[in-house]
Amino acid sequence: MGQRTAVAVAGSLNLDVVMPVPHHPRPGETVLGGDHTRHPGGKGANQAVAAARLGQHVTMLGRVGDDDAGSFLTGMLDSAGVDTSAVTVTPQTPTGMAYIAVDEAGENTIIVSPGANGMFSAGDVASSAAVLADADVTLLQLEVPLDTVEAAARAAGGTVVLNPAPARELRPALLDAVDVLVLNETELEVLAGQQLPSGNLDGIVDLSRRINGPDAIVVTLGARGALLVDSEGVSYVPAVEVDVVDTTAAGDAFCGALADALVRREGLGAAVRWATRAAAVTVTRDGAQPALPSRDDVENVR
Ligand code: ATP
Repeated sequence: MGQRTAVAVAGSLNLDVVMPVPHHPRPGETVLGGDHTRHPGGKGANQAVAAARLGQHVTMLGRVGDDDAGSFLTGMLDSAGVDTSAVTVTPQTPTGMAYIAVDEAGENTIIVSPGANGMFSAGDVASSAAVLADADVTLLQLEVPLDTVEAAARAAGGTVVLNPAPARELRPALLDAVDVLVLNETELEVLAGQQLPSGNLDGIVDLSRRINGPDAIVVTLGARGALLVDSEGVSYVPAVEVDVVDTTAAGDAFCGALADALVRREGLGAAVRWATRAAAVTVTRDGAQPALPSRDDVENVR
């Protein structure tokens, strides 16, 4: 028998294809870019690796295509120690891809082709219901169909953490099944159905209180840190000051580390502080999955 799952992640696996461009093409324009590089990505896979690097037994639920990209992505998860037995290979469907063009100023444009992620179904979730029922924490994002996310939230026996990215409106039934919602300011505006009057913390707290369902809301604030809003009140956790190299996957590192702390039965305040430290390490390194820290890395952050 395999090891018991501490963290279950039901979500996306994408191959990120990154291309440097002198400028972004306008409609109808062809731009000659530099050499592309290929990286493992997808918020689901990144968050699974984040929790596994911190020492948790993680099981990934999702779908890849029957192609080289799919084997590459499951291979990367395997080598991070993530259990991929619930990642289904989908015949005649391409693996999810993100085409990322980066111009000389570092601005991105991204096209995501969901591929097999779009075929990840509530039926798949039902086939792995025992894993979700048993996991201490289930981590969810929105790069797979909403019905699948809802099915996973309902099947989860432990704490449900939802990172609603990319943002879209959610049904109350899903929000009711969520224990901890982790989102950035843009996502907060979409879910609250209102723009932030200003970036000040009071405005963020007001919008957070408009979201019904989750027991706790954690708003990540980039270089400003994070805000925890729950029934006990509001606590602000400043970011750790570091030399920033690349902020890719900061949010994924944060979610994976939060899950890790919740498995260890840390209180939410301590979990948010831990997640802030893990995300700080990530922004000091290039890339997504390769930037995700080990437990030692996080413990040594000052
Ligand atoms: P991304 O989409 O880039 O993964 P996000 O928008 O989901 O990120 P952010 O709020 O930008 O999430 O960042 C998540 C967390 O990462 C923040 O709460 C903070 O703790 C940490 N972080 C982000 N940027 C910095 C920074 N410049 N310095 C230190 N910590 C940072």
